[in-house]
Amino acid sequence: MSDKLHFETQAIQSTLVKDAQASSVTQPIYLTTTFERETDGSYPHGFVYSRLDNPNRKQLEASVALLENGDKAFAFASGMASINAMFQTLKTGDHVIIPDDAYYATEILLRDVYERWGLQMTKVDMSNNDAVQKAVQPNTKMIWVETPSNPLLKVSDIESIAAIAHKAGALCVVDNTWATPVMQLPLTLGADAVMHSTTKYYGGHCDVLGGILIIKSNNELAEKISSIQTKGGAVPSPFDCWIISRGIKTLSLRVKAQTESAGKLAEYLSTHPKVEKVNYPGLKSHLQHAIAAKQMKGGFGAMLSVQIKGDAKAAMELTGRLKLFTTATSLGGVESLVEHRRSVEGPYSVTPDNLLRVSVGLEHIDDLINDWKQALG
Ligand SMILES: *Cc1c(COP(=O)(O)O)cnc(C)c1O
Repeated sequence: MSDKLHFETQAIQSTLVKDAQASSVTQPIYLTTTFERETDGSYPHGFVYSRLDNPNRKQLEASVALLENGDKAFAFASGMASINAMFQTLKTGDHVIIPDDAYYATEILLRDVYERWGLQMTKVDMSNNDAVQKAVQPNTKMIWVETPSNPLLKVSDIESIAAIAHKAGALCVVDNTWATPVMQLPLTLGADAVMHSTTKYYGGHCDVLGGILIIKSNNELAEKISSIQTKGGAVPSPFDCWIISRGIKTLSLRVKAQTESAGKLAEYLSTHPKVEKVNYPGLKSHLQHAIAAKQMKGGFGAMLSVQIKGDAKAAMELTGRLKLFTTATSLGGVESLVEHRRSVEGPYSVTPDNLLRVSVGLEHIDDLINDWKQALG
């Protein structure tokens, strides 16, 4: 029945697990590593040891699988742990295609860790389908998509790239962290798996690290991920799962409100004489606005980046004049953040020097616009 309900209702219903012992309305946090076994060898509730499974993790995974339209979800201790698990499903000699502006640590993981294990990688402009097609090799096993991308907000056409991947016998995996399932459902557009840093919008309050993989069908890929999750052991604690589940209850409300403000801030900044360029897929001037409008059903998200007229020093100094935007890395919380991205990335960064990445929070939009107004001067 629940798959006929709307997203907001599913979000509440799927996280509302009543406890039989005390009839508590919210689920207790099961701070236990181990579960009692019967003399016949069985485990009454199916739980054995918390690395393998725990009631809080089970609930989180079931809820996220439902919200992303997948069969199965696997929770990890961070977004990077979930990305790591996805690459671990591949083998020596396999080839992966990633966006040339992928989340910086994704590329570094492939370079620092997986190159030694013989995994091959090609970087492409993932907003250009022809470039993706040209990068396909006989040993290509995975196309990694991140849309909108970090921090240039480039948009990739998920449906077309999934088709390219499938024709080549490869998987299409989408990092959906920035869009969230409120805006975009890659599994309904042909992707085989979705990844989230639940540290961001799912958690929503900058107080918990987490990652999750959602698999479209309960197949061989799901079996591999399950094995990597429980044997590799990079699992989230029961408390972390509980906190992320609490975030799910307000996910839609937060993301929609933050998106509305991001759209207004992007419009304002795009007309400011001291701004060179605003990167936001909701702007008509954005190169892939049409694709974004087609595949991002709920809106364009709450992340944007601003390229000011000036150099790195001027951009950094501007962050100091903003009073309501905390200068910090990360995103997706209720508090607005700003970051000079190039200087936290490393030698392979393609981010312009004059770019500031903005995560729009839940403060009143008039205050946020006024803050930029005074900071830009
Ligand atoms: C933050 C982030 C990650 C990494 O997640 P962590 O939880 O920090 O490990 C991956 N992809 C994107 C798009 C992110 O924003």
